[in-house]
Amino acid sequence: MTTISTNTPTAELQALDAAHHLHPFTHGNQLEQKGARVITRAEGVWLNDSDGNRILDAMAGLWCVNIGYGREELAEAAARQMRELPYYNTFFQTTHVPAIALAERMAQLAPGDLNHFFFAGSGSEANDTNLRMVRTYWDAKGQPERKTVISRWNGYHGSTVGSASLGGMKGMHAQGGLPIPDIAYIDQPNWWAEGGDMTPEEFGLERARQLEAKIEEIGPDKVAAFIAEPVQGAGGVIVAPDTYWPEIQRIVDKYGILLIADEVICGFGRTGNWFGSQTLNIRPDIMTVAKGLSSGYQPIGGSMVSGEVASVMRDVEFNHGYTYSGHPVACAVALENLRIMEEERIVETVRDDTGPYLQERFESLTDHPLVGEAKIVGMMGSLALTPHKESRAAFAADPGTIGYICRERCFANNLIMRHVADRMVISPPLVISRGEIDTLIDRAWQSLDEAQKRIEDEGLMKPAS
Ligand SMILES: *Cc1c(COP(=O)(O)O)cnc(C)c1O
Repeated sequence: MTTISTNTPTAELQALDAAHHLHPFTHGNQLEQKGARVITRAEGVWLNDSDGNRILDAMAGLWCVNIGYGREELAEAAARQMRELPYYNTFFQTTHVPAIALAERMAQLAPGDLNHFFFAGSGSEANDTNLRMVRTYWDAKGQPERKTVISRWNGYHGSTVGSASLGGMKGMHAQGGLPIPDIAYIDQPNWWAEGGDMTPEEFGLERARQLEAKIEEIGPDKVAAFIAEPVQGAGGVIVAPDTYWPEIQRIVDKYGILLIADEVICGFGRTGNWFGSQTLNIRPDIMTVAKGLSSGYQPIGGSMVSGEVASVMRDVEFNHGYTYSGHPVACAVALENLRIMEEERIVETVRDDTGPYLQERFESLTDHPLVGEAKIVGMMGSLALTPHKESRAAFAADPGTIGYICRERCFANNLIMRHVADRMVISPPLVISRGEIDTLIDRAWQSLDEAQKRIEDEGLMKPAS
């Protein structure tokens, strides 16, 4: 075995990585040519790589490091728990203190009567749980034909067979025989790209009413649930028009179908409240959580379930669970994360201070010639890149070509921003300061300038016809 460390030369690390590591969501041969970026340390909102660069992480890892990197207290909580009880399960009528405490804490934090927690190891697992749970729920209520879950094209709910089927990512469905049966899809409320001549308000209603039409098409007594992210994350930070969510809530209420809010990104302060459902004023029956629950320090997720759903589920033995459901170390770290979030008033700061400041600065990027719209809720935002603002035109180049160029310029300027096709997205750690927000916006502007120059030089500044 080779002994490697963060002091090993970058080229050597990259060669070993290419030789033995199959990466998620990565084209392996392209990566091998370029060499993976090796991240070695992190503190606050800053990453260090093996070449000595200091990078502003405007994505909080994968939308998860809400509390920022390098919190000693979380390391201590993990070490303490590992010494006391590193593992025990929660199957077959057993439990332990960290799982009890975290379930209780979640019941206090979650809105409405969401007061029971089913533990999973990730957001994908939690959505697999939800799929089986809503069908089991209707079964137990004597309506076994209620099986179909309605979801949205370009929604993201995870990468397992069940959760990727719930998601509406066509590129994911194309691999591995997805989706599984009895999932139906409606269109996303992406006004910029799909709104045509409608006002955002008209378009929001039109897209919400697709849910009603889909329920009628399938048969109201065959629909189990509707699942959606309050704000689509991986789909490009798509913020629905204001008319959308009230109409969705009206429709799910009218037909009595369960509403699953996938809060994996929106939860834990991301939108300026503890949960996106509070920001958007919706009343889910089930909330999926993960990511910010532990700020990414431990893999943990789960489903927050209403008293009503829980009372029905308690009448059956649910033949479902994960070895790591309620993992004590993950629970202990999540609890410590939530304690710090509360003690340091991180959610309130995002809502009242740094969130509005980021919004103002981020929206100023619409002055840039490449930027058509800037959308932001709390600390998740996106920029639509366009060759022609007035017509909201897409680029003639393949979707993602321009976004990729822009992302490369961000990397070169030590800023991590992601691109989703030709939208640029941010989701920084919630502890980002005003000064760091200024740095983020300056680097983004600089990167947009460099991208524009390259796009013009390569003759790509052309609208799709
Ligand atoms: C990331 C994400 C998931 C999947 O979570 P994993 O922990 O990666 O399995 C599910 N839903 C949403 C909205 C997400 O952003």
